Amino acid sequence: MHSPILGKLTRGKAQRHLVKLPGAALANDEPRPVISITSAKPGPVLFVNAGVHGGEYPAIEAVIRLSKTLDPKKIAGTVILMPVMNLPAFRSRTPFVCPIDNVNPNRVFPGDPAGSYSEQMTHALINEFVVHADAYIDLHGGDIPEALVPFVICRSEAGLADSKARDVAGRSREMALAFELPYVLAVSKPIQPAKGRRAGGGGLSSYAAAAEKGVPSILAEAGGVGQMQEDAVALLVQGVINVMRHLGMIADAKSHIADSETNLKSKSKKPAHSAVATTVLTKFEWLYTKYQGVWYPKVGPGDLVKKGQEIGTVGDLFGDTLEKIVSPVNGVILFLTINPSVLENGLLMGIGAKEA
Ligand SMILES: [Zn+2]
Repeated sequence: MHSPILGKLTRGKAQRHLVKLPGAALANDEPRPVISITSAKPGPVLFVNAGVHGGEYPAIEAVIRLSKTLDPKKIAGTVILMPVMNLPAFRSRTPFVCPIDNVNPNRVFPGDPAGSYSEQMTHALINEFVVHADAYIDLHGGDIPEALVPFVICRSEAGLADSKARDVAGRSREMALAFELPYVLAVSKPIQPAKGRRAGGGGLSSYAAAAEKGVPSILAEAGGVGQMQEDAVALLVQGVINVMRHLGMIADAKSHIADSETNLKSKSKKPAHSAVATTVLTKFEWLYTKYQGVWYPKVGPGDLVKKGQEIGTVGDLFGDTLEKIVSPVNGVILFLTINPSVLENGLLMGIGAKEA
């Protein structure tokens, strides 16, 4: 592993780094904690970060937990862990965007070294970390006003003409399935614009930009609503470990995942090593309200819905209904805005579906 920004990585050691990312807009940033775990055994380089959105706490905690759990003597290759990329949002508890430029960083990958703060930050992440890795995992969850059912997103091979791009997408899908969450979304086009106050510069999400650089990558989501759910932390820790096993970085999984496995008990009684039934979806429908008002969802994350089903209403402050929200597809509610106050054109939910 040659990652110039981290300096020399010592084989057989876990090292703590405080990293100043390049970029004029980032010059006064507090340094970002990064942990490298380097085995004496050769193997792939895996880069894992969380905190592209600063209010997705279980994802951030999962990266911290991995840094304390993974033992350089028991893995092969190198794992690089960054708990929080969007540190300004984390410090200020800002959902969706970076408070410095009000841009959603996950819409401006692969960034721009001459762009706004978020564009310089994503550019640094891609060029200092992702391109030096053999695989990349970006951990997310529902942001502070969102609940969700755990799922993984990756690039789909569909529509890719280039054989190298198809190969990267295929390997990304294998990683997504290996993560073992209930749903995998394999999408062929970048996910929707503007999941925040302002649209970013029309860029890509992290996993899509990484795939375009030739690095197999996934984005995994668990937890939400601004809280630290232990079962979500455990799912994300276990998912990264599952991917490491898939990549050949872990042979004897049992020896150092005991903690995360015992934490998996809450939701399901099945043993952590049994294959999870994962449903692969190919379409991500995001629903918005036309009006500002009060949001009354009739569904929750993980609920299955039918095309034409009324799944919520938006009312005004007199209690009159302004709009009935109807599902445009047969699918599953992957994420849901849980705060009752919604703005005009505000995001209500995302429904995963199979292509008709
Ligand atoms: Zn996120």
